[in-house]
Amino acid sequence: MSSNNNLSPDTLLTQAMHYLEPVTGGIVPGIQMATTYARDQDYELRAPGISYGRDKNPTYLVAEKVVAELEGGAGALLFSSGLAAAAALFHTLAPGDHVVAPVIMYHGLRDWLIQFCKNWKVDIDFFDATVDGALSSAIKPGRTRMVWIETPANPTWDVTDIAAAAELAHAAGARLAVDSTVATPLLTRPLALGADFVFHSATKYLNGHSDVIAGVLVAGEDDEQWQAVRFQRAFGGAILGPMEAWLLLRGMRTMHLRVQRSSQSAMTIARELEGHGRISRVLYPGLESHPGHAIARRQMQGGFSGMLSVLVDGDAAVARGVAGRTRVFVPATSLGGVESLIEHRATVEGPNSPVAPNLLRLSVGIEDVADLIADLDQALDG
Ligand SMILES: *Cc1c(COP(=O)(O)O)cnc(C)c1O
Repeated sequence: MSSNNNLSPDTLLTQAMHYLEPVTGGIVPGIQMATTYARDQDYELRAPGISYGRDKNPTYLVAEKVVAELEGGAGALLFSSGLAAAAALFHTLAPGDHVVAPVIMYHGLRDWLIQFCKNWKVDIDFFDATVDGALSSAIKPGRTRMVWIETPANPTWDVTDIAAAAELAHAAGARLAVDSTVATPLLTRPLALGADFVFHSATKYLNGHSDVIAGVLVAGEDDEQWQAVRFQRAFGGAILGPMEAWLLLRGMRTMHLRVQRSSQSAMTIARELEGHGRISRVLYPGLESHPGHAIARRQMQGGFSGMLSVLVDGDAAVARGVAGRTRVFVPATSLGGVESLIEHRATVEGPNSPVAPNLLRLSVGIEDVADLIADLDQALDG
């Protein structure tokens, strides 16, 4: 694949697989299943660095190149899941280091992080991203090595000012990592705002079809810590299989259309539900009523994502009842696929969940928005 630095993300994504196979002229790349690669007569590798499948695979190298270009990064590494990617980054820390993370963040990662920090003797402090000054007071200058933020954050879509967080982290000698899964590489570019690392659960919008588990990290610079992440991937072994990498590439080719449609529909649904009698609150960063709206308007372009939550008028049973009555929205966890999902988040997160019992999380897909609204209306009225 040639360098595409001057192309728009839409073109880059559409043509992500479009390079000619040298032998057949096929206009999509083959899936390279080989685990090992023969050397030539001089015992040289035929393709630079490609000798064994745990270290490098030509199929996932293409996907990594596309993500790195979209984020404007020095490099990207794919992993067998989002959590495996995050774990690789946190494994570059050492005992005695200090980490800062938000109270409201992807629940599975929060649980893992607490356990990891306990076992590795890494100190961790959580901050409330909705409180001014909370991040700055959680950072310990000289000791904090990593600040992790998620924006917009599951499932209330709190918005964190990436540029401000980067300044605070850097002033204290720490690096900033951003979980940008919900914003996608299209709506927010964290590296351009000063972040050091970008994380995506590629299971979500990047793949977009609810059929691949994958994760990706992107680095602003190819520095020592990034080399440590690369080492962790190669020898920790949480690589993405070539089939999954190919499916991910295929999914990414339409990401710009999916994200645009989902964002537009989510905005329409959020406005529609804001006046609904059975709903006490709609949480969506695109609404003026959302506390993070002003920052979201500054750091998101082209939409506010397809994710929103509603607080229904009632308790957990009422909320679960609504989710049980939808016919178009599928009652399931996860997000970012072409099909719309509805989820009772507190049930999924379990007993230690900080999520309100009457919160329903919606992942808006690419169906006809009128069908989605009619479905929510009948489920709420039922
Ligand atoms: C799903 C998700 C993750 C975890 O990724 P997996 O691919 O499920 O391992 C992390 N952060 C966010 C925001 C997510 O939605």
